[in-house]
Amino acid sequence: MTDHYAVIGNPVDHSKSPQIHAAFARQTGQDITYDRLSAPLDAFTSTAQRFFSEGGQGLNITVPFKHEAWDLVNLHRGDALDAQAVNTIKSENGKLIGYNTDGIGLVADIKKNLRFEIAGKRVLLMGAGGATYGVVFPLLRENTKALVVVNRTLEKAQSLVQSIKKRAGAIVTSLDAAPYADLAGSTFDIVINATSAGLNGEMPSLPQGIFARDALAYDMVYGRNTPFLAFAREHGAHAVDGLGMLVEQA
Ligand code: NDP
Repeated sequence: MTDHYAVIGNPVDHSKSPQIHAAFARQTGQDITYDRLSAPLDAFTSTAQRFFSEGGQGLNITVPFKHEAWDLVNLHRGDALDAQAVNTIKSENGKLIGYNTDGIGLVADIKKNLRFEIAGKRVLLMGAGGATYGVVFPLLRENTKALVVVNRTLEKAQSLVQSIKKRAGAIVTSLDAAPYADLAGSTFDIVINATSAGLNGEMPSLPQGIFARDALAYDMVYGRNTPFLAFAREHGAHAVDGLGMLVEQA
């Protein structure tokens, strides 16, 4: 029997998840379909519920629905509870189970594939949406020296940091929220773009001199030369897109 899966988002046309999951299914001998499901911005829940009521077994969730996915599921497993965001939903015995594999995927890509150490590094994380929520805890668990979350809408970064600090206890070394304007004069060893700016050819307002020597510049957006990646290359950083993260989290 064929199992039905999809990635749901808005936009979703850019997603390479169908190709990745089709390749995994071939390797593991599974009979599946895996589609792209575009949900209207105000109708994530009804679109996802229809997919499952029509027999769908699992969804991956992309921009901007990861918080709504967290609200939708009946149970949270693994990193999903701490993340307050869900990127994978599985239907099991009539219940929807939510997972978050974004952090595992990012950390594996940086450490295993790129062979870049996270422990003891100063990390700048841009964005305060579902993707950022998914990766903050896994980055902190790697013993970053400092983690700064910066977002265009500062209040969202502040509330993310507050909520993480409440729950993280001993694993929080140094975690702060900041506006882009406060970054001038600071340098970071790892700069992660977890915004969707690159999907629209836009660039977060980073100051010159943000990259420390031999810094890693990581854009979660993949498959395009985003303004952030171009900026990073111009400033001597090692610039990498998010394809490896996508594969690792899948
Ligand atoms: P959300 O819609 O939840 O959040 C988007 C974030 O981007 C917000 O913080 C928003 O800021 C910020 N943003 C958007 N445009 C700009 C801009 N021009 N300048 C500065 N900030 C901007 O999206 P997600 O968090 O779910 O996803 C973010 C991106 O990460 C997506 O592009 C997604 O494709 C990618 N991603 C890739 C993965 C991979 O495996 N490679 C996994 C997960 C995500 P504000 O709050 O001010 O609106």
